[in-house]
Amino acid sequence: MEDVYLSDFDPEPALVTETHVPERSRWPVLDMHNHTQWQEDWHYTDISALVDTLDESNVAAYVDLDGGTGARLAHHLERLRGPYPDRFVVYARLNWQWAVQESGQFGELLARQVRQAVALGAEGLKVWKDVGLRIRDLAGNRVTVSDERLDPLWSTVAELKIPVCIHTGDPLAFFRPADNHNERIEELNRHPDWHFYGPGFVSLTQILDEFEELLDRHPDVTFVGAHMAASAEDLGRLRRMLDKHPNLLVDLSERIAELGRQPYSARDFLLKYSDRVLFGLDVSPARPIDYRIYYQFLETWDEYMP
Ligand SMILES: [Zn+2]
Repeated sequence: MEDVYLSDFDPEPALVTETHVPERSRWPVLDMHNHTQWQEDWHYTDISALVDTLDESNVAAYVDLDGGTGARLAHHLERLRGPYPDRFVVYARLNWQWAVQESGQFGELLARQVRQAVALGAEGLKVWKDVGLRIRDLAGNRVTVSDERLDPLWSTVAELKIPVCIHTGDPLAFFRPADNHNERIEELNRHPDWHFYGPGFVSLTQILDEFEELLDRHPDVTFVGAHMAASAEDLGRLRRMLDKHPNLLVDLSERIAELGRQPYSARDFLLKYSDRVLFGLDVSPARPIDYRIYYQFLETWDEYMP
């Protein structure tokens, strides 16, 4: 037998199972984690095509996390909420790299940005994983999400009463050596920049501890931990986090692969914490089939889906 390259491995499932893919969700869906624009490219040239997908998939409202600030935010609001005011919610995303390089008082700069964004019409704040992973202050130190210099930002967010969708951490495998034991080695081969192991990086446990410190320090801010708060591999830890921090919600976007491998525990978890888990797709441009996979996973007893 010849060795097969991992990059060529493309097994066809031999299981014969019943599948019941729902056309539409049983109830209207709020997609709390999605995008319309990545970097400078629009995913959608025609927003009405996205709205057709939402109609077909029974998605009542769609949160666009790519609002940015200033002119970019105004453009998102005009483009989405102009024609479809009941369909879209736009979150701001701040210019962290600039703020941290500009001044040691970067919390104040970010607070000012979020205040302006809300004045323009943003209804939430998105914080991406680069905060806590890669962003460094003028002295070269990693800026953690619990950094006290950020307190002015979080106090302002509390005052503005907007939710924060925070993507901190990532799948555990991205924090481990990229070797034959790594369960996401194929993905890391395709995206080497998703590997957060080695000099300059800390463990996922430490990043989650820092996140919990933030949750403790700002109990008046509602945080939505994106992707099951990077804890889908360890639902025990996530239970403890949710029990300890009433200001924490999570979204389940992009984590069916983890939940589906522990279906009994995941079902118990989702039922017990049903008021703390938000729906999110995080696939754009979204197709109806992308939503249907989630409906199949959440609404049916189907056991196997590629
Ligand atoms: Zn996302």
